[in-house]
Amino acid sequence: MTDRPKLYEGKAKIIYPTDDPDVLLTYFKDDATAFNAQKRGQIGNKGRINCAISTHLFQLLEARGVPTHWIDTPSEREMRVRAVKIIPLEVVVRNLAAGSLCKQTGLPLGLALNPPLVEFYYKNDGLGDPLLTDERLRLLDLATPEQVIELKRLALEVDRYLTDFFADCGITLVDFKLEFGVDAQGLLLLADEISPDTCRLWDQAAEDETQRVLDKDRFRQDLGQVEEAYQRVLDRVLAHAASF
Ligand code: UDP
Repeated sequence: MTDRPKLYEGKAKIIYPTDDPDVLLTYFKDDATAFNAQKRGQIGNKGRINCAISTHLFQLLEARGVPTHWIDTPSEREMRVRAVKIIPLEVVVRNLAAGSLCKQTGLPLGLALNPPLVEFYYKNDGLGDPLLTDERLRLLDLATPEQVIELKRLALEVDRYLTDFFADCGITLVDFKLEFGVDAQGLLLLADEISPDTCRLWDQAAEDETQRVLDKDRFRQDLGQVEEAYQRVLDRVLAHAASF
C-alpha cells in the first residue's frame, strides 16, 4: 500500500493518485457491504481475490476489443487504472431473473431472460441507487443519448464474452453490474471491477440451490463459506485464463 493521501475511499476500494495524472491506483479492501451499506462486514482475502478476478476479466475483455481502464496489477491488491470521470450509472445486465428483479416483479428466481435485460440505475447512495426509466435517464442527463446507446452495446458485448468464459469455468453468469467512465481523451472505458461482489455466479456442478451461490449473495443472505466461494471462482478463472 502507499502512504499517499487517498483520492477517494469507497465501500470496497480505495483510490490513490499516482505521479501521472492520467493513472490511478486502486486498492481492493476486504470490507463488504450490502443493502445500501446497512449490512457491513469483512470477507477474508476478498481484496486479493477480487483484484485477481477483475484483472483476468479485464484482460479477457481487452483481448476481445472492449476498452477498459485496466493498465496492470502491480501487487496482489492493487490495480493501476486509467483515470476516468465515472458516469454515475450502474449498468446491470441480467441473463436469469434474480435479486431485485424477482423482488420487484414477482418473476421466479432463475427464469431465463432472452434477450438479456439491460437496466440503468442511478449511482447515488443517498437516493438508494434507483432504477431509471428511459425518460428519467434523459431528464437527469447523466450521459448523452449517444453514450447511453454505446453503454448498452458495450454491456451486451461484455455479457456475451463473460457468459461464454464463465460457462467454460462451469459457472452460470446470472447477472452483473458495470460502471463506465470517460478518460482525458474523451474515450468511454469500462471501469470499477468485475468480481463476485458485482456479479451473480452459480456453480453448474452444485447439488442444491444454496451450494450453487458463488457470489456476494452468500454474504447478503448469511449462507456462510463466503471466502471459499470467492476463492472457488478465482481458481476456476485461473484454470481457464490460458484460453483468453
Ligand atoms: N450490483 C452491484 N452493486 C449494486 C447493485 C447491484 O454490484 O449497488 C450487482 C449485484 O451484485 C447483481 C446485479 O448487480 O449481480 C443485479 O443486482 P440487483 O439489482 O438484483 O440488486 P440486489 O439484489 O443487490 O438488490
